[in-house]
Amino acid sequence: MEVKKVMVIGAGQMGSGIAQVCAQAGYEVLLNDLKAEYIDRGLGVIKKNLSRQVSKERMTEAEMEEVLRRLQPSDNLEDSGRVDLVIEAAVENIEIKADIFKRLDGIAPDHAILASNTSSLPITEIAAATKRPEKVIGMHFMNPVPVMKLVEIIRGLATADEVYTAIEEMTHKLGKVPVEVNDFPGFVSNRILMPMINEAIYTLYEGVAEKEAIDEVMKLGMNHPMGPLTLADFIGLDTCLYIMETLHEGFGDDKYRPCPLLRKYVKAGWLGKKSGRGFYQYS
Ligand code: NAD
Repeated sequence: MEVKKVMVIGAGQMGSGIAQVCAQAGYEVLLNDLKAEYIDRGLGVIKKNLSRQVSKERMTEAEMEEVLRRLQPSDNLEDSGRVDLVIEAAVENIEIKADIFKRLDGIAPDHAILASNTSSLPITEIAAATKRPEKVIGMHFMNPVPVMKLVEIIRGLATADEVYTAIEEMTHKLGKVPVEVNDFPGFVSNRILMPMINEAIYTLYEGVAEKEAIDEVMKLGMNHPMGPLTLADFIGLDTCLYIMETLHEGFGDDKYRPCPLLRKYVKAGWLGKKSGRGFYQYS
């Protein structure tokens, strides 16, 4: 099961990073989103990242051009008929993901693997939207993708061993480290990280300390590279809320209830760095 051509769905912060590392590793990549302007934005981010590498002399101009040549835009899901692997990185919403996978199942070649970069949604449920659940798998990259080494690989209930092996091998080719995880809400990463972020938001909500103080305690006291409120802004507060809701519903345990302040910010459109404002302001 050799992967040569990849489609990445969603040209947002994760999808553009995934497309970049795939193209850098030599794969032909189609970057798909709903509108050409979203794809252009994603490709613009990739170009900026690569140019930075050229200016730091980590890559030549010719190598950058070669990587960019391997990246092609796609605003039509029908293009997945030409790929061996799809990595979906659209918004964290089960209805949207199930719909994408159902449509992909009807278009992608029979041998194609369908992977999701979901942060917390059940791979088994996404797989159930297709007639090839054995070829559906979770490929959970970390943000920012070009920098972070980990890829959590999630086996759905029906994921075939050879599909797991193909994705594990590809992850190594991307220069990343795969870690095998079973399919339960939040997997390992967000089951542990997100309740900590949610608790930090409660700490702010209850007036225990100012946002800067909360972040400083976790940075200096726990040696975290950034505070939990800053990290939430980087992840996207909408994504954080979706994940907390998935944990809450999936485990039926109130310890995962999302903080009302998180809901309020998302309703206000304060989604963190990507919208210019979250717990902090970004210009
Ligand atoms: P984002 O909002 O930056 O990007 C999402 C993109 O998907 C947007 O460009 C949007 O137009 C596009 N999109 C939405 N519906 C689509 C559809 N039907 N077809 C094609 N494109 C569609 O979000 P993000 O932070 O990149 O997150 C994407 C996924 O990655 C989510 O499932 C999220 O949980 C997961 N994830 C996020 C992080 C993080 O730190 N942000 C980390 C790991 C995984």
